[in-house]
Amino acid sequence: MGLPAGVIRELEAALGPEHVIREPEQLRVYECDGLTGYRAIPELVCLPGSAEEVQVVVRACAREEIPWVARGAGTGLSGGAAPVADGLVISLARMNRVLDVDLGSQRVVVQPGVTNLDVTRAVAAEGFFYAPDPSS
Ligand SMILES: Cc1cc2nc3c(=O)[nH]c(=O)nc-3n(C[C@H](O)[C@H](O)[C@H](O)COP(=O)(O)OP(=O)(O)OC[C@H]3O[C@@H](n4cnc5c(N)ncnc54)[C@H](O)[C@@H]3O)c2cc1C
Repeated sequence: MGLPAGVIRELEAALGPEHVIREPEQLRVYECDGLTGYRAIPELVCLPGSAEEVQVVVRACAREEIPWVARGAGTGLSGGAAPVADGLVISLARMNRVLDVDLGSQRVVVQPGVTNLDVTRAVAAEGFFYAPDPSS
């Protein structure tokens, strides 16, 4: 089917063309998450670098009625980040900053692309670690 060329241009202008993935062999990377039995190749993958850029993508999708799925590391085991064919994936992988560490209350504020291991790295020097439950 293909997304409207104007929308792709709009997203490339807002995010930078290097953060809008449209090549078939690169799109295949996003065809599934940890649930590998279900696969669909999205039309486009956007990698916004800020909340404002996420807003640009979501607003364009809403306006054009393009289905979209948010994706972190794509390690969920229930297919939640499986793309919709004819749709768009918003990968949050670039938003990978640990914003605040408050060890007193054992609270860490992160952007949505931060991995569990990165949280551990941010607090390990103080003798803390962060692990999923119950695999820890
Ligand atoms: C080997 C292995 C072991 C695991 N062990 C455990 C375990 O012991 N305990 C446990 O609880 N889990 C476990 N998990 C699951 C793990 O918790 C998930 O992989 C993780 O939570 C998914 O995070 P993600 O960023 O990869 O999300 P994704 O897989 O990218 O997405 C998960 C869901 O959240 C949505 N989503 C992602 N980012 C956003 C966002 N910013 N805003 C809104 N929606 C969003 C996606 O659309 C999807 O529906 C394990 C996974 C693996 C691969």
